[in-house]
Amino acid sequence: MLIYGTNTYFRSNKVTQHGFCSLCNSYAKMRSFTAMPFLHLYFIPVIPIGSRKRSHKLCGKCNQCQAFEPAVFDSIITRLKDQSADAIVALKSGDTTFDSDDPNEAPIECVPFLHSVVDWLYASNNVAFCESMLSQLTEPECRYAQTMLRAALETYRGKPDDAINTYREASQIQQQSFQPHHARGLLLAARKKTIECIEAYRSAIACSTPDIEYQLRLELVDIQTAAKQYTDAAATFDWLLAAKPDLLSNKDFMKLVNKNKRKAGIA
Ligand SMILES: [Zn+2]
Repeated sequence: MLIYGTNTYFRSNKVTQHGFCSLCNSYAKMRSFTAMPFLHLYFIPVIPIGSRKRSHKLCGKCNQCQAFEPAVFDSIITRLKDQSADAIVALKSGDTTFDSDDPNEAPIECVPFLHSVVDWLYASNNVAFCESMLSQLTEPECRYAQTMLRAALETYRGKPDDAINTYREASQIQQQSFQPHHARGLLLAARKKTIECIEAYRSAIACSTPDIEYQLRLELVDIQTAAKQYTDAAATFDWLLAAKPDLLSNKDFMKLVNKNKRKAGIA
């Protein structure tokens, strides 16, 4: 039997981490690397079938990833590092936002920005840079930022239970932010700790603006139906339909609503 196919070879700048897949939403083990795609015969690379690409967070569950031209990826990372440095300076001087390079854009919130950038920096083999950011945030007013970043790093290191506790710590430092509750809820869902997960989502909703509340309730209704909490899910569906009446004409969404109503015994 002739064994052939395609694969990537000559991998460099390899990183293994845990994290949330942007394509299947699972919490999974992921690999990132720069490599060349080849046609292989008996697993020996024979013919190159493209240029080197950066595979960013190849998910162990769905086997998908984002792919970038290495030069494009490097320029993204360089820009994120520069902006992170600006965010750190702002936090250390007591500000909560920093100015974007684009004068037409609104100032950027430091902590949510850094929290999402750490994901990119970790996956691009810049863990030392992430740690140096953490070690700079020593002022008492930076404690929330430092705790959020520590929780993110614990998540990527495959320590979700530590991260859950650290996000709880962050939510106690800054009680009006939805982000630590939400991040904790996502990890609790991955750990199948449903009761605590729903409680974390409720805390996140209590701190959110209307737009964010809508997104949070969309996630919550999935968790409630998966946990067979059909009556609670029906209430969440009602809230979503009242917030966005356009959903009434979305057939897929209404199928979910009606299926849930039957299960809740209210159809
Ligand atoms: Zn995935």
